Amino acid sequence: MTYERLNIQRSTGYQPGEQPDDPSVVKLNTNENPYPPADAVMAALRSFPADRLRRYPSPRAEAFRRTAGKMHGLEPANVIATNGGDELLRLVITTFVEPGKPIGAAEPSYSLYPVLAEIHDSPFVSIPLEDDWSLPADFATQLNRTRASLAFVVNPHAPSGRLTPVDQLAKIADTFSGVLVVDEAYVDFVDPNLAHDAVQLVRQFDNVLLLRTLSKGYSLAGLRFAYGLGTPGLIQPMLEKTKDSYNTDTLAQALATAALESRTAAAKTWQAVRAERARLTAELTARGFQIPPSQSNFILARPTGKRPDAGDLYQMLKGKGVFVRYFDQDRLRDKLRITIGSPRENDALLTAIDSHD
Ligand SMILES: *Cc1c(COP(=O)(O)O)cnc(C)c1O
Repeated sequence: MTYERLNIQRSTGYQPGEQPDDPSVVKLNTNENPYPPADAVMAALRSFPADRLRRYPSPRAEAFRRTAGKMHGLEPANVIATNGGDELLRLVITTFVEPGKPIGAAEPSYSLYPVLAEIHDSPFVSIPLEDDWSLPADFATQLNRTRASLAFVVNPHAPSGRLTPVDQLAKIADTFSGVLVVDEAYVDFVDPNLAHDAVQLVRQFDNVLLLRTLSKGYSLAGLRFAYGLGTPGLIQPMLEKTKDSYNTDTLAQALATAALESRTAAAKTWQAVRAERARLTAELTARGFQIPPSQSNFILARPTGKRPDAGDLYQMLKGKGVFVRYFDQDRLRDKLRITIGSPRENDALLTAIDSHD
């Protein structure tokens, strides 16, 4: 006897990347930052008064929202703090999509989106990306035709790392009749010379919601802290009606606030990741891998020539204690998604690949 709803029975759930216990594993599979959180975050952790845990947290993370608002040149009313970006993705669906109404996304992308649609009992409309991973020119028109009331665009794109420029996002937001969630989980790693800044979309459009997370850029994946940026019309219903009353805890709020306040320290790790991204891309390209340009903290590498195919290479690397991500799905099963690690970790990957030649 099962008591699950039919859509839950059908669902296979999200398959997270492996989180091995063994600390000697070279872990290049779930896009964590290879560097530790900022000193100021560690100091805030060490000096955190345990007695504060006796009381409930600030229900709406007021101090954090003030800090985030200021950092982005927005008001606290434009900010919602969530228990990781994944909670925000679930909240936008709960808040803005009638169950049964379609949810759209360009595919392939973050494999959690269709799972969340399934939980909501909404059809998931996937619109294929072009061969170079760019969004189709008529993306918004296609979305409107499906009557989707919400769409996800991950930018920089996962798993390719391709960056869609802000003016193109603006055109999509202008044409699309639903809520456009721009998932900026990896935006911290974009080359600052590109002057990419999607926050202006929040000021221009009442249907754009940006997702930011501290998991990747701020080396805090274990803390579970993220935030959304949007007009009060998007933020308020989530803040006041649909989120759990105490969705982020006191310790996480304190550390997340310290992390944003020490953004310049985190930015040094972003620069280091970019330098290693360039080096690893060059080293792998020289070994015959095909890699599209990435503005993220991972690359999507396709082995060519006499190399074993991607699935075998994934297994071989795993056997040598180097974990990367393999997606056994259309357009991805001939590629590996490799997180940019520290110089030593990236060298370990190259050594493992070379030892196989
Ligand atoms: C990591 C990630 C998120 C959010 O992750 P959290 O750890 O829940 O903040 C959102 N979208 C994409 C595409 C991601 O890779």
